[in-house]
Amino acid sequence: MVETPRRKRLATVWLAGCSGCHMSFLDLDEWLIDLADQADIVYSPVASDQKHYPKDVDIALVEGGVANTDNLELLQIVRQNTAVLVSFGDCAIHANIPGMRNMLQGADPVLRRAYLDLADASAQLPNAPGLIPALLEQVLPVHEVVPVDVYLPGCPPSAQRIRTVLEALLQDQCPDLRRGGEIRFG
Ligand code: SF4
Repeated sequence: MVETPRRKRLATVWLAGCSGCHMSFLDLDEWLIDLADQADIVYSPVASDQKHYPKDVDIALVEGGVANTDNLELLQIVRQNTAVLVSFGDCAIHANIPGMRNMLQGADPVLRRAYLDLADASAQLPNAPGLIPALLEQVLPVHEVVPVDVYLPGCPPSAQRIRTVLEALLQDQCPDLRRGGEIRFG
C-alpha cells in the first residue's frame, strides 16, 4: 500500500516589519489554493488570530527584524518548534527599515527622539511595564538570534520568489533562487 505523504504544517510569523512581506505572500493569489492542497497553515497573522505558536511546524516564514522583547521571545519559540525556518524578506535578513533606528545607538535615544524631541504636546515617555514590550538596544536580523535555514531576500520578496521557495520546501528540496535571477536583493 502506498503511503500518503503527510501534509506540511506551515506558519508565517510577523516580527518588526511593515507586513509588506505578508502582503506579497497574499499576492500568490490562486496559487494559495494549490498551497492549501499541500499544507495546513497552522499559524499566521493573515489566516487566524491564534495566540500561541504550535508545535511540530515544518516550515515557518519569519518576517521582520527583532526589535523588542516580544519579538525575541516569539522567535525563540518559533525556532524550538520549527524544522525549516525561513528568514523572510530584507528586514528579517539584515534588519533593513526597522534597523534604521540602530544609528541612534540604543533604545533610550530612540524613545527620547520619538516621544520627547518630536512631540507637539504632552511629551512623555511611554511607561506600561508588562503591557508595552521593551525595545532592544539594537534591531537584530533573525540569524543573529537563532539559526536560519533558508534566506528569502527582497523588500518585499516577489510572490514568484516566495512560490519558488515554498514549492521546493514542500517537496523537501533546497530552494534554488539562482533560477531566473531570483537571488537579487531589493
Ligand atoms: Fe516591509 Fe520590506 Fe521589511 Fe518586508 S522587507 S517587512 S516589505 S520593509
